[in-house]
This record gives sequence, structure tokens and C-alpha cells, in this order.
Amino acid sequence: MEGLSDTTFHQANWGSWRQLQGSVPILFSAPHEIAQIRNSNMKVAEPGTGDLAFLLAEKVGGSAIATADVQAGDPNWDIGHPYRDVIRELLPSPQGIVIDLHMMKDRGFMTCIGCGNFPDLVDGIWQELATEFTREYISLSVGWPFNGGRKTITTDLQISGYRAFQLEMRSDCYDTSSETYPKIERALLAFVEKLKTNGSLL
Ligand SMILES: [Zn+2]
Repeated sequence: MEGLSDTTFHQANWGSWRQLQGSVPILFSAPHEIAQIRNSNMKVAEPGTGDLAFLLAEKVGGSAIATADVQAGDPNWDIGHPYRDVIRELLPSPQGIVIDLHMMKDRGFMTCIGCGNFPDLVDGIWQELATEFTREYISLSVGWPFNGGRKTITTDLQISGYRAFQLEMRSDCYDTSSETYPKIERALLAFVEKLKTNGSLL
């Protein structure tokens, strides 16, 4: 696979992960690629989120991170989780854009953008993605049922100054054999190209 040699695997006491260091200040994150432990309960994995994160990062020159093996906790629920420090190392510019990818059940729409507790930071950015989703006839909810609240990676990184938002998508959006998948990939790539041309990624 193109770019695979640049991906590195790491292990710590909290679990293992793969990462890709890019040069464009955007990072795609998939903290739930592997099943996680939340409040002592196992939560199911979100397979495909990691592959999409890495594919997008490779195509646009950005960075990516995904969990890669057994996890001790939940990177998107445990405040101060070290996974978030890896993001800060991969993307040292606190003005960088972080998109935290997740999988959700079908609730009548295909995608949900969560703008976190500091939505002003991503105002003008998520709307560009919404526009690209509309072009591809992908339905979208904003802020419900997932907004990326205090405990999440999204708000934690926003507190550090990152322009972070959460993107929850239905499982078919990650299934490369589905009719939906090519639309999702096109929309996300067009979104990043727009950010490059409008100066949001300088
Ligand atoms: Zn998730």
C-alpha cells in the first residue's frame, strides 16, 4: 500500500497504536478502531475508521493515528489519556485541524459532526465539509446525538487550541465495498482541498 512504509507501530502501557507523520497541518484520528474499555465495560470496535484515517492522511499529506491492539481504557473518554499526547506530538501546531473519526448506529442520517465545547474554533471549517457532503447526497446532523463534549478528544484538543471536531459516520461509510464509501472519500478529499485553497491549512 502506498505510504505504508511511513506508518509506524508503537506500544505503551495504555495500549498500542499506529501513526503516520505528515507535513500538512491536518490529522485524522481513529481512537476506536480497536475495542475499548469504558467504565469497566468493553465497547465494540469501529472497524474501518483507522484505514480511512490513514488513507485520507496519505492522500493529502497529513498525519494519522489509530489504535492498533488491545486497549486498557478509552482514548475518547478518559480525560488525560496519553493517546491525546501522541496527537499533540504528531501535530505540534496548536492551530492544526484534527478530525476524530467514529462509527455510529443508523439514526436516520449518515453522518454527524460534533463541534465540541468550543465550536467557535471550528466555525467556517465544518461547514465546508457539510457542503461537500451535500454535493454527494450524504445526510448530516450537526451536534446531535454526538457533539464531542468535555471528556472527548475533540474538546480536550480544543482546550489546547486545536481546531478539532468529531465526525461520526454510519458503518457503510467505512465499508469500501458499499455504494456510500466512494462518496464519503470524495467528499472528505474535496473538503481538505478546499481547506488548502482557502488558506485554512497554512
Ligand atoms: Zn467511537
